[in-house]
Amino acid sequence: MQAAGPAQRVPDEHPRHVHAGSGAAPRPFRIAIIGAGPAGFYAADHLLRQTDLPVEVDLFDRLPTPHGLVRLGVAPDHQKIKNVIRVYDKTAERPGFRFFGNVEFGRHIRLEDLRRHYHAVVFTTGAQVDRSLGIPGEDLAGSHSATEFVAWYNGHPDYRDHHFDLSRERVAIVGVGNVAVDVARILCRTPEELARTDIADYALEALRESRVREIFMLGRRGPAQAAFTLPEARELGELPGADVFVPPEEAVLDPFSQALLAEEGDRDTLKKVELIQEFAQRRPTGKPRRLTIRFLVSPVAIHDDGTGHVAGLRLVRNELYRTEDGRLRPRATGRYEDLPVGLVFRSIGYRGVPLPGVPFDERHGVIPTEEGRVLDPATGRPLPGLYAAGWIKRGATGVIGTNKACAVETVSRLLEDAAAGRLPEPEQPDAGAALNHIRARQPDYVTYDDWKRIDRIEVERGEAAGRPRVKFTGVREMLEALREDPARSA
Ligand code: NAP
Repeated sequence: MQAAGPAQRVPDEHPRHVHAGSGAAPRPFRIAIIGAGPAGFYAADHLLRQTDLPVEVDLFDRLPTPHGLVRLGVAPDHQKIKNVIRVYDKTAERPGFRFFGNVEFGRHIRLEDLRRHYHAVVFTTGAQVDRSLGIPGEDLAGSHSATEFVAWYNGHPDYRDHHFDLSRERVAIVGVGNVAVDVARILCRTPEELARTDIADYALEALRESRVREIFMLGRRGPAQAAFTLPEARELGELPGADVFVPPEEAVLDPFSQALLAEEGDRDTLKKVELIQEFAQRRPTGKPRRLTIRFLVSPVAIHDDGTGHVAGLRLVRNELYRTEDGRLRPRATGRYEDLPVGLVFRSIGYRGVPLPGVPFDERHGVIPTEEGRVLDPATGRPLPGLYAAGWIKRGATGVIGTNKACAVETVSRLLEDAAAGRLPEPEQPDAGAALNHIRARQPDYVTYDDWKRIDRIEVERGEAAGRPRVKFTGVREMLEALREDPARSA
């Protein structure tokens, strides 16, 4: 946030780098990165760590808080995963790094502005919206995307006013990926378990009152194709507040899966199938909630209770068939059943959203790229100076660390282009000019030092309650806390 008085260190003083062997002091390559999630930080880190070319990095995020899905996607009961933030803090300490939070691409800063001040732009905006099922009833009240629910319980400012009717006793989650597992686990956690996390306060209150008793996760293929990973599945089997169960007939492997598993001998999948089959043997132990994982079923419609609210799901049973390239796909059998539920979360993957002026592949929900270079859809050739990394480049796959290799690939191509003179020369390639532009367009920009203050206040608020932090969930609240923070003028 821009200081009104002498208070805040203004991040416009970069040390100037010098090309090895040159007498003069050439300007560094200035790189803008849009999106301060894991991919953005890994891209910044790789740029600032290398010593072949002098670079400066400005990392932008539309929210005042950095770290993307590590803050707003990783489940609140998975605090250890969030330790990766320490790595990002180290990146932020590297000379040549600046963070501009609360600055939105397309609103406060447009592509032509970036072109004027930077040699290259790396888009790391992730995948913010969900994929839809395309079935009747998807728009009924009580039918939500997992994306919304996850963002809501994690305190994302855009989602804090969403409402989820947790007075319903039966809930279906469509999809059996790790996001579906997160949603199921959060619905199954006891208030005492949640109270030890950094879940948003309003979500803690709502989940404390939750009357959800029965949760169904619905896989369209079989146990061997479940997208969740083994540790996540194991955790479901150890929930203090919920019994986990799989209908025994759905835990049995079909002949195709058996053959494929024997052929490939994938140990993780084998163990996952064994675990699912073990779940199928379990009997209720009297825990307050029950989680049932179903396989080989697809929703074909969401029923209306007559008032525009979800009343249940129409499911079709599937069988698997082998495609020419050897993959196992689901096919409807014509056998149907109805599953009465009052709430539906679709958790069938994420898509990126198009950015103004940047090519977009609608079909896959990504920016079209080749090894991270953004491609011109008209020519299929790279657009000079434009790059992408992370989920907006390769789709919503992999864990946080996957983004490191992805960002390194992109940045390696960028550095090759810089070394070969293939980057366009900006009109005003200096840090001060970029800062002036940002100041003029968004005086309430947030620096990394500002973020560290927000972070400290959140952690302090959590200490009293025995929680890792109590999050700010509104942008205005964050900016006010910064204005009122006595450490601001330190
Ligand atoms: P995902 O892993 O791709 O899972 C998507 C699920 O939706 C799959 O079960 C998929 O089934 C199913 N699906 C897709 N289209 C469907 C349809 N039309 N009808 C019914 N089911 C459908 O996606 P995700 O769960 O959103 O996770 C995204 C990425 O984040 C993954 O790489 C995940 O591992 C990662 N993540 C990791 C963690 C963690 O490490 N703890 C936590 C959260 C997310 P098919 O397999 O049949 O397509």
